[in-house]
Amino acid sequence: MTAAKPIPFLDLKAQQARIAADLRRRLDTVLEHCQFILGPEVRELEEALATFCGAKHCVSVSSGTDALQIAMMAENIGRGDAVFLPAFTYTATAEVPLVLGATPVFVDVDPRTFQIDPAHLTARIEQVLAEGKLRPRALIGVDLFGQPADWPALTDIARRFNLITIDDLAQSFGGSLHGVMLGTQADATATSFFPSKSLGAYGDAGALFTESAERAELYRSLRTHGEGKTRYEVLRTGMNGRMDSIQAAVLLSKLTVFPEELRARERIARIYDQRLGNVVTTPARVPDSSSAWAIYAILLKDGTERDRIQAALKDEGVPTAIYYPRPLHRQPAYQGHHDGAALPVSEDVAQRILALPIHPDLTEADVERICQAVVTASRL
Ligand SMILES: *Cc1c(COP(=O)(O)O)cnc(C)c1O
Repeated sequence: MTAAKPIPFLDLKAQQARIAADLRRRLDTVLEHCQFILGPEVRELEEALATFCGAKHCVSVSSGTDALQIAMMAENIGRGDAVFLPAFTYTATAEVPLVLGATPVFVDVDPRTFQIDPAHLTARIEQVLAEGKLRPRALIGVDLFGQPADWPALTDIARRFNLITIDDLAQSFGGSLHGVMLGTQADATATSFFPSKSLGAYGDAGALFTESAERAELYRSLRTHGEGKTRYEVLRTGMNGRMDSIQAAVLLSKLTVFPEELRARERIARIYDQRLGNVVTTPARVPDSSSAWAIYAILLKDGTERDRIQAALKDEGVPTAIYYPRPLHRQPAYQGHHDGAALPVSEDVAQRILALPIHPDLTEADVERICQAVVTASRL
């Protein structure tokens, strides 16, 4: 028996077909003016993104990782500073503090929403203070998989311990909390437009959002080698962190269909919730929020069941992914920087989690096929 054609985990070709004419027009304009870096599209995009998020300032940059780095450079985060972040996230969140000489302090996550656990965060800050070796400077709230972290709690903790708040929005651009688009919850918000994110470019790109004019000015300087009012005045050590006009053109075009894509992802998530809620553990919703559904992750009973179901789905042409098979404190690069605190939820979730396809170009038949395959595989 020949298996049916595999369903794509992400279908950038189908998405491209929906915006083809507008995309070509915008790319042709860039080819006409030849201002390939920080061209007019970049400024237009920054305004459109700021409006979309309701943020005062948007500064576009070259990637989500560079956005995090610029946010931390602007606060002079470095040697001796503790930066608190979840152990269950993408590597970039921990990499940036280390690159700047600071120390990541790993915090466990909530077992149902997978977001950083505020109670454990408080305990970790108190532990660092009691040890007296590092200075607590910043917390990075990662909005994981499309949903927001618990920003009201994180903001209270940051006030109490005088920490800078950084929102790693790389996976959740387009999500909201209490009816407000994400982008204004923290002192600095860093997002990514890597092609597979909720809003993706055709290469690397990212952005910073802030309500502070001073911070926005610093970000603009830092992304261009620390330049001052004139190009050859160097005020501070910066980096090359600028966005390409071609990426801005792609993002402007994709932004025109982004709201309907978010609605399509939400529709699919609801079907998964209904069809699979009694079969596997479907993702818990963060209260009073909406998800950008970059990732729809289910939990299985244990690692053996997860691997078995993943293999069975693959045989049915249903691709899956594991975000993340290892929490960061268990990574070879980071374990030496970990103080040894127990992070049992991150370790448990890494064993049992599995992401199903969720993108706006899945057809109803695809979604039905995925649900059927999960139901069948879970009964084997
Ligand atoms: C993708 C991602 C980043 C990094 O973004 P890039 O644009 O790939 O540099 C940072 N944090 C999280 C949580 C991410 O998922």
